[in-house]
Amino acid sequence: MDTETIQPQDMKWLEKGVLGIMWSDGHQGVYPIRYLRLHCPCAACTDEWTGELKLKSDDVPMFIMLKDIQLVGHYALRLIWSDGHDTGLYAFSKLRQMCQCDVCRPEKDPDPKPSRRLL
Ligand SMILES: [Zn+2]
Ligand SMILES: [Zn+2]
Repeated sequence: MDTETIQPQDMKWLEKGVLGIMWSDGHQGVYPIRYLRLHCPCAACTDEWTGELKLKSDDVPMFIMLKDIQLVGHYALRLIWSDGHDTGLYAFSKLRQMCQCDVCRPEKDPDPKPSRRLL
């Protein structure tokens, strides 16, 4: 699968707070919007070098809403959030990988915890 050319074909709300994106490879992507907000790829939310999330679960309102979705060129979506954040560009190829459906994520990825160290 050439992930560089993947495109969203359709978007709809699967349920309240869960965005569905139909991809050009025929996959129905499932995206809880709070998950998307928590994994915002912009420099303020994600460390550009390490890819580490700077955002903590507590930083994002439990009932965050999407105010707008804008197409950026042919490669990304810009998400406009109810908390005023709008600098995250979600590249299609990245978004496709972030799918939270049962097939892509058999075990749900919980909100990031402050620490996962076992030792
Ligand atoms: Zn951000
Ligand atoms: Zn999926």
